[in-house]
Amino acid sequence: MDLFEHQGKEFFAQFGMPVSPGEAVFSVDEAVAAAERLGTPVMVKAQVHTGGRGKAGGVKFAADIDAVREHASNILGLDIRGHIVNRLWIEKASDIAEEYYASFTLDRSAKKHLGMLSKEGGVEIETVAEENPDAIAKIWVDPTVGLDEATTRAWVAAANLPEAAVEGTVDILQKLYVAYTDGDCDLVEINPLILTPQGNVHVLDAKVTLDGNSTFRHPDYEQYDETQPRDEREAAAHAKGLQYVGLEGSVGVIANGAGLAMSTVDVVNQVGGKPANFLDIGGGANADVMAGALEVINNDPAVKSILINIFGGITRGEEVANGILEAMRRVKIDAPIVIRLDGTNADEGRAILAPNINEMLQMEDTMLDAARRAVELAG
Ligand code: GDP
Ligand code: MG
Repeated sequence: MDLFEHQGKEFFAQFGMPVSPGEAVFSVDEAVAAAERLGTPVMVKAQVHTGGRGKAGGVKFAADIDAVREHASNILGLDIRGHIVNRLWIEKASDIAEEYYASFTLDRSAKKHLGMLSKEGGVEIETVAEENPDAIAKIWVDPTVGLDEATTRAWVAAANLPEAAVEGTVDILQKLYVAYTDGDCDLVEINPLILTPQGNVHVLDAKVTLDGNSTFRHPDYEQYDETQPRDEREAAAHAKGLQYVGLEGSVGVIANGAGLAMSTVDVVNQVGGKPANFLDIGGGANADVMAGALEVINNDPAVKSILINIFGGITRGEEVANGILEAMRRVKIDAPIVIRLDGTNADEGRAILAPNINEMLQMEDTMLDAARRAVELAG
């Protein structure tokens, strides 16, 4: 679960990291009012779940209120790498002497947390890694041991930060590690971490990805879930607890398990079709879940046929079959359904479906045949 920059900064501030004061706004008038309260100069910053906002014209310095109005109206509605801006962060502008990079993420193969620190901040870390890999000081932290101050100091020394930045950076990195671990994050990134001409070290950008499976430990993360940008289809699926990704094609895809859903999307492409979505109903899906999934897909006017690909493990064939019939009773399904049912209790499932087979509900034995049929029906 990705946070907006301003949410990331509020999150960091809870752990005692220095961030600039600011306000999140949704209109030009609100931006002007916020800038008046904060006092110019301010930064006008697009809030979208992608980086490179600066390069795309989504981060602007405003010396006065007229500039705030101009930048806010230009940035609202801007498309940044496919993300439309409808939220701005108006932040008190900082003076910058130098820009650094700092992050923590999990290195799965090392089974440790990976910290990265670089003197070359403000540009994408991938670029630094490619052009100047020696400029990144890495540290692997054993989660059972944690990160102490001496280790943090050695790490900062390895990154060759100037003397003026050392104390502030050590302090921020230690807090960043606590935020990352106590906050159950998959990623925390500060780019840039700045040194001001006055000698303060300060967080200027925040990227935070929370582990969505940790929300039971953090009831307050509900607020971030609510602000996740979702298209209408995704919102409807999310409300039903389904894993759904909207795509551009015409074949609706329902499968159990993300792996099978991905393979199904591949096979649809392989036989010349285009999937309209990716919908994983998960393991142990019952009739209710199947009915919900069909309802979501049925509401997408781009869907011309529906391919249901189930390999039962915990999910049982007769539950799937009953779910499909239940969905067809509940809502008028507009697109023909092709089902491939295999695995646990597949025979029982097929027997339930058999009397109901017609041009709107078809069955195939293999995934490939089912995909071919669905693509054919999609036209
Ligand atoms: P990103 O492009 O999405 O990573 O957005 P950032 O928040 O990192 O902003 C991009 C760049 O804008 C930074 O690297 C800074 O150079 C610049 N910038 C952001 N905030 C300020 C500020 O308060 N003062 C100044 N002078 N520059 C800023
Ligand atoms: Mg940045």
